[in-house]
Amino acid sequence: MKIAGKVEMDDLPRICPLLSRRTNPRFGEAQTRAVQVGAVRFGGEHPVVIAGPCAVENREQTLEVARAVKGSGADMLRGGAYKPRTSPHDFQGLGLEALKILREACRETGLPVVTEVMDPRLVEQVAEYADMIQIGSRNMQNYPLLIEVGRARKPVLLKRGMAAGLCEWLGAAEYIANEGNFDIVLCERGIKAFSNGEYSRYSLDLNVIPAVKAETFLPVIVDPSHSTGATTMVEGASRAALEFGAQGLIIEVASDRLDAARPRCDAAQAISPRTLRRIIHYIDARQEVLAEGAHAA
Ligand code: PEP
Ligand code: MN
Repeated sequence: MKIAGKVEMDDLPRICPLLSRRTNPRFGEAQTRAVQVGAVRFGGEHPVVIAGPCAVENREQTLEVARAVKGSGADMLRGGAYKPRTSPHDFQGLGLEALKILREACRETGLPVVTEVMDPRLVEQVAEYADMIQIGSRNMQNYPLLIEVGRARKPVLLKRGMAAGLCEWLGAAEYIANEGNFDIVLCERGIKAFSNGEYSRYSLDLNVIPAVKAETFLPVIVDPSHSTGATTMVEGASRAALEFGAQGLIIEVASDRLDAARPRCDAAQAISPRTLRRIIHYIDARQEVLAEGAHAA
């Protein structure tokens, strides 16, 4: 029986000729095409850690968390200005005001900023304030948005759709590359599977990381926060992601110093700056061991 729209890994050369290693052999079988965001390099020697609040809630909270993650050793700051929320009655983000706060936090800490855009009409505005533009899971297949972001000439963090296969994910990346923008970092953030909120928010699909690296030269990172949905799982998921070859992490952090410490969104998955510091120490120690191994070989 023939099935319309069926895709397999062997279709990748047709779906994404620009990004598939099979049709674009410029980076050989294993080399990553590094993506530079200011002084931060995705796909280089060292895994990149992006950290910050789920949403920019106000100036005080964002600056506080930005300083804290900087102090913990993070490389970049995250924070939502336009939030994709399940209900229109939920906090939607502060929009332009949040973008200005993120810029200020970047000026003060030196951390480049990544933030999400959902509306093609706002790409220009977000690109003016952000160092890297995030496409969220819910918009991975919003093709007009991908095209607009491809034209924006800013590095893009492309999250995997929560129900997207690898071919669909790489097809989405191809829309961005097709506009001439190859500065794309992929992010695995958990998929809809059996856990369905019972014991974790999504199912973290670490198995996809080696497959991504085999099929394309784009760097790939992991979001241990949205994939697990639980503070207690973030550190373990981060370590596991690194073992599977993730080239970075994006982690939600809440300050424990603010009175208003409970974030307005995703509080149950936010880790403390102290836990973030421990994750970064783990990465640094692991890098040292890897370097020693390479030296001895
Ligand atoms: C986020 O990173 O703020 C976010 C909403 O993540 P996702 O799109 O993966 O759900
Ligand atoms: Mn969140």
